[in-house]
Amino acid sequence: MDCLFCKIINGSIPSDKVYETDTVLAFRDIQPAAPVHILIIPKKHIATMNDVTEQDGAIVADLFTAARHIAAELGIADAGYRLINNVNNDGGQVVYHLHVHLLAGKKLGGLLS
Ligand code: IMP
Repeated sequence: MDCLFCKIINGSIPSDKVYETDTVLAFRDIQPAAPVHILIIPKKHIATMNDVTEQDGAIVADLFTAARHIAAELGIADAGYRLINNVNNDGGQVVYHLHVHLLAGKKLGGLLS
């Protein structure tokens, strides 16, 4: 599968892993847009939010549950954080494997930073 994030999941491309379950992997973004910038991805290849089906409900829940665990583990839950999912070209999606950006570590302004 010619998918960057699938290669990170199977270990053929290294990542700075922060959290993992049977269904979800989270790792630090290589170009952080905030002091804390983590990508949370399903291990199942789903290209975009447009491709999520009713059968994927548990996986989507797992992404948000992972965010809660990561925020608690990093001690940023109370200060706060932002979750972003970019969809397709106008949404700014570059990697076509579903992912949620977790941004934190400073007072975030505007839409993204
Ligand atoms: P998108 O624009 O929502 O698709 O976000 C893709 C993100 O993946 C960007 O923030 C990139 O910096 C990040 N990224 C690309 N390649 C890697 C990698 O190999 N490791 C970690 N993050 C990556």
